[in-house]
Amino acid sequence: MAGEPRSDCLFCKIVVGEVPATIVRETETTVAFRDINPQAPTHVLVIPKEHHADAAALAAAAPGIAADVLREAGEVAAQEKTDDAGYRIVFNTGAGAGQTVFHAHAHVLGGRGLEWPPG
Ligand code: 5GP
Ligand code: ZN
Repeated sequence: MAGEPRSDCLFCKIVVGEVPATIVRETETTVAFRDINPQAPTHVLVIPKEHHADAAALAAAAPGIAADVLREAGEVAAQEKTDDAGYRIVFNTGAGAGQTVFHAHAHVLGGRGLEWPPG
């Protein structure tokens, strides 16, 4: 069923604490934790606690939680003090775009100059 935890999903395991992560924020519906392989001084992943394969699937099935993820991305940027200098919220969607974990997640990147368009 949409949103149910998956036993084979790394981020579902982080939600329940089965895989450790450095959590920076948590709400009823979301968790934000530091990326294990940071690409910027601030590199935090914001995920819904529910399992959805990608951002579009999340928005279709649970639009309120998709909004929670976006709001939390902004809160992370404020907490990390990257909001004044600018930051980037990225949803890689599909393997061809670099998605490697198929549980929806927003990357929040900041703390350095971010070129556009990205590589
Ligand atoms: P994607 O490539 O799917 O957009 O992003 C997945 C992200 O998850 C990558 O940036 C990767 O470094 C991060 N990641 C993969 N495994 C782990 C893990 O076990 N813990 C944490 N904190 N991040 C992970
Ligand atoms: Zn999952």
